[in-house]
Amino acid sequence: MKIDLESPSAERLMQHGVKTRELKAARIFVFDMQLGAAITLPIPILGPMILIKRRWLVFDDDDELEDSANLRMLRHELCHVRQIQDWGGLAYMRRQLWARVKTRSLYARTAEEESVCYSAQAKVTAFYRGRE
Ligand SMILES: [Zn+2]
Repeated sequence: MKIDLESPSAERLMQHGVKTRELKAARIFVFDMQLGAAITLPIPILGPMILIKRRWLVFDDDDELEDSANLRMLRHELCHVRQIQDWGGLAYMRRQLWARVKTRSLYARTAEEESVCYSAQAKVTAFYRGRE
């Protein structure tokens, strides 16, 4: 799916710092057969593709992304969309792979490439804390 820029879903993500150009570029697909919660890949011609587990795409009764802390995983992946746009697809893949080698971790939380996205994710969690 693509997120309609005029939709409440877009508005909800943008209140957490997601930019229009990231939403415009991102293609989002449910994919449950992966180790982590989600992954963002640079696809030639198509652009950044987010593969995310169904559990993290929670919709409200209006079929919009629920205004809740569940947005945090999409926020994290849209941070990677920005990296793909800023660095280019090849450099993104190289840096992401190297971050995993360097930290000897699939999640590479302490690497700069990931820590910035985990931090954006944590801000979403903090925003909804006590509101749900
Ligand atoms: Zn990440």
